[in-house]
Amino acid sequence: MCAKQSLKTYNFKGKKALVRVDYNVPLNEELQIQDTKRIDASLPTLHKILDDGGSIILVSHLGRPKNKEYQLSLKHLMPYLKSVLPDVNIYFADQCIGEQTKQMAAKLQAGEILLLENVRYFTEEEAGDENFAREIASYGDVFVHEAFSTAHRKHATTAVIAKFFPNDKMYGLLMEKEIDSLAKVMQNPKRPLTAILGGSKISTKIKIINNLMTKVDNLIIGGGMDFTFQKAMGGHIGKSLCEDDMIPVAQEILQKAKETNVNIYYTIDRIAGDKFSNDARRAIYPAKNIPDDMEGMDLGPETCIKYRDVILNSATILWNGPMGVFEMDNFSIGTFMVADAVAKATEKGAFTLVGGGDSVSAVNKFHLTDSYSYISTAGGAMLEYIEGKQLPGILAIEE
Ligand code: AMP
Repeated sequence: MCAKQSLKTYNFKGKKALVRVDYNVPLNEELQIQDTKRIDASLPTLHKILDDGGSIILVSHLGRPKNKEYQLSLKHLMPYLKSVLPDVNIYFADQCIGEQTKQMAAKLQAGEILLLENVRYFTEEEAGDENFAREIASYGDVFVHEAFSTAHRKHATTAVIAKFFPNDKMYGLLMEKEIDSLAKVMQNPKRPLTAILGGSKISTKIKIINNLMTKVDNLIIGGGMDFTFQKAMGGHIGKSLCEDDMIPVAQEILQKAKETNVNIYYTIDRIAGDKFSNDARRAIYPAKNIPDDMEGMDLGPETCIKYRDVILNSATILWNGPMGVFEMDNFSIGTFMVADAVAKATEKGAFTLVGGGDSVSAVNKFHLTDSYSYISTAGGAMLEYIEGKQLPGILAIEE
């Protein structure tokens, strides 16, 4: 990572910091926050700026407004923000741009916070409009990017704005940790490096697989997407999930694995069900030979033993996507085995990164949330990083 400035060493005394956060939190019908994690996670960055004697202008989006919907106002976050920062004066600007907002920003004193209204109330945000970015930039002296989950978007306040702070732009503590963790896996991993990929479809993971094939020592395939590989290798997969149009792509990957010396592990056996339901009749079959009336929904015992062994002998692990239909308890053992083995590998000293909505839900389901080196909740931004793309939000800070 080569950002010019670091939040940890920057002195914010007397400065107004524009902090781009991701406060896109779920609200219920009473407009109360259902999950405060995203706000809580930004607090260390806010405290550092305030403790230095700086002030903060918070910039965020909430949802996907079409017509400035009241339900998507950031105003609804004020009671919670005040409760977690009880000694701080926090103001709300009910427009994110305009003369009144400019004045509120100008009047802000050291130790105070101004929360701007939803930047997506203006189409200029998603269009990456430079004038819109310039106006918001004019409210602050320094830009702090603390919204990694938006880093794959070239929006006005997630990327474009940074150019107005050539010497005073940096990552927030959370974004820095997220990028450091991804770099530990994708740039200088301790070896062997193992990637575990699951989930339903191969089509959504092709770019990731292609990029990982140039980097990993071991690639473990699970979930529904394994069946497209099994069929590409001539297997009989019964009613199991398969993307027939992806078979040629799967064959190319098989060929590429031979050329790059990556060890690819496919399932050996499967727990299958006679219907897509938790109370399906279950039986174990070789992954290459599932009867016509059965559907592979979880890893079989031999596969579990093999995958566990590879995981426990890895020094760096990236896990994305469940190994089976983990939402159904009777088909969750494979995903639990991986979650547990990656946790054990972490205990043994491996660096482990878990990411993607379903893997994170699985880890929560198994109460293993604190068992990994890093859990990424950044979704799209994380996946695009693993695909090897340069993210606009990162380039904006590092350029
Ligand atoms: P994705 O959104 O592509 O990451 O896929 C996540 C979903 O894949 C989860 O909801 C799992 O239930 C599902 N899944 C995993 N393994 C299988 C399988 N063998 N058959 C059908 N669905 C699966």
